[in-house]
Amino acid sequence: MSGRKFSRRSVLLLAAAVLLAVALGSVALARARSAAVVATVPFSDLLRHLDSASVKEIVVNGDLLEFKLANGETFRTIAPANYVTSNAAFVPELAKKGVRIDVQTVADQSPYSYGALVLGLGFVGLLGFAMYRVTSGRIPALESKAREAGAETTTVTFADVAGVDEAKEEVKEIVDFLREPGRFAAIGGRIPKGVLLVGPPGTGKTLLARSIAGEAKVPFLFASGSDFVEMYAGVGASRIRKLFKDARRHAAACIIFIDELDAVGRSRGGTSLSHEEREQTLNQLLVEMDGFAPNQGIVVIAATNRPDILDPALLRPGRFDRQVTVGAPDVKGREQILQIHARKVAIDAEVDLRQVARGTPGFSGAELANLVNEAALFAVRAGRQIVTNQDFDQARDKVLMGAERKSLQMSEHERMTCAYHESGHAVVAALLPHADPLHKVTIIPRGRALGVTMQLPEGDRHTHTREFLEAQIAILMGGRVAEELFLRQMTSGAGNDIERATEIARRMVCEFGMSAALGPLAYRTPGNPWETDKGAGISESMAQQVDAEIKGLVMNGYETARQIIAKNRAAVRAMAEELLVVESLDADSIKAVIASAA
Ligand code: ADP
Ligand code: MG
Ligand code: ZN
Repeated sequence: MSGRKFSRRSVLLLAAAVLLAVALGSVALARARSAAVVATVPFSDLLRHLDSASVKEIVVNGDLLEFKLANGETFRTIAPANYVTSNAAFVPELAKKGVRIDVQTVADQSPYSYGALVLGLGFVGLLGFAMYRVTSGRIPALESKAREAGAETTTVTFADVAGVDEAKEEVKEIVDFLREPGRFAAIGGRIPKGVLLVGPPGTGKTLLARSIAGEAKVPFLFASGSDFVEMYAGVGASRIRKLFKDARRHAAACIIFIDELDAVGRSRGGTSLSHEEREQTLNQLLVEMDGFAPNQGIVVIAATNRPDILDPALLRPGRFDRQVTVGAPDVKGREQILQIHARKVAIDAEVDLRQVARGTPGFSGAELANLVNEAALFAVRAGRQIVTNQDFDQARDKVLMGAERKSLQMSEHERMTCAYHESGHAVVAALLPHADPLHKVTIIPRGRALGVTMQLPEGDRHTHTREFLEAQIAILMGGRVAEELFLRQMTSGAGNDIERATEIARRMVCEFGMSAALGPLAYRTPGNPWETDKGAGISESMAQQVDAEIKGLVMNGYETARQIIAKNRAAVRAMAEELLVVESLDADSIKAVIASAA
């Protein structure tokens, strides 16, 4: 951070602090002043004084009434809502009794008005300053709209994308075409018009699209599906029109990239508010794609992680008729991705990226990039120039579980609850043969969780056995069971566990066909993530059976956990007590604790 930026920021902070102090001070002062003079009394007091005709003067300020007695005492009271204005007899009655009535507006009486004014002015000032900073280009996030229709030249190449070799192989052809559209056509290559990159978030779809432009050295026109979804009718369609017009202006070949295609490309016929607008936009996109000849040198690339909800019209020949899957990287791919991102930081020679890759199954490319970044930050925070194994360990835990929240204060009882709860998970996980090995147990709060029990699979897993899933449910139940057996309590802390266990059971029954009673059929139930707008439902009686099967699986898991914990009380207790002292246990310490209690 440059010195200049820093001093600006401190000026800003100082200004904010001064404003706040002045405002609070004035509010406090006004309060103190009025409090010293006027006591607030119940409304019935006012009525009593009126009855005894001892009221001399009333100042009405909305429902806030200040009244002065004949003896000079002043009180304040709050009338029932709209009492003065809705009670037609009130004011005439006061007048009849000879009470002087003064009506004030809220603003000229409010003791807070001065403070509010200062605060208001202060905020206007701060807003102005912020706007100045934005317009002077200091906040990059807001620039993207302006860039929307402009073409970028990109320096990203295939060398920057790893772990998606098949996808790269498939798009090589597009690069060949874009380099020399004429020659490609002459040798009879089938020219792609639209290519759809499909895959989970963070796997490098956007990066791959950029690298195609970089490899072919052609302009890259970026747009995001969400840019086209506006509240105003016709805006999305006209943006699409402009995008293609810009593309046609490029004499040679170019790429139009539409990120998050699903934002515009959802199947039509929904009933949502913006659906008419979206339909217009989608139609315009279809018209534009049909409107250019394949040899014009324009290739439209789009990305989505929800191909299932796309309008089928988008996938017809001549549109996005080529799909390329960009999947999550395997262990070798992860190592390569780590190498790419590790080039930007200085890494200790002892760090083995293959080992890091092995310990990060399921990580996407974006998460791996984030991991390297976090590791570098840990090194900086420790005052080191070089990133070590320990930094990678910490970074992985952080990316996996959210940042440690050291500041969160837990009561002693909460810590104990947490320690028994996590020990319950851990002991069940350690003793079930089909579970993944334990990696770590901790009662240091992270993200939203108070404690965490972490398992790590030994290799990449693509499929799960029934035994594995059943073990997973039992492990999730272990937390609740330990609380019940040791502390005789149920807490809301198990809520997330219960939700996850139920979800596993639901998928076993509805998606994986693992219920003996219901057989290998897919059941579409509400909440099923791949349920489409078509919404094929199941009958009421079928739904009841599905529910019964799900409940059976969860209850089985609960029973398994209960038996294991009841049989191994000593191990759970020993682990909980150890956790209360050291807060987190790694795989070896977990084994040692369990062995010592046996
Ligand atoms: P997606 O578009 O699939 O959500 P992105 O392309 O936006 O993913 O990925 C975000 C960032 O994560 C990239 O800019 C890059 O730094 C990193 N990344 C993701 N996938 C890969 C990959 N396969 N190889 C190298 N880096 C990757
Ligand atoms: Mg993306
Ligand atoms: Zn839990």
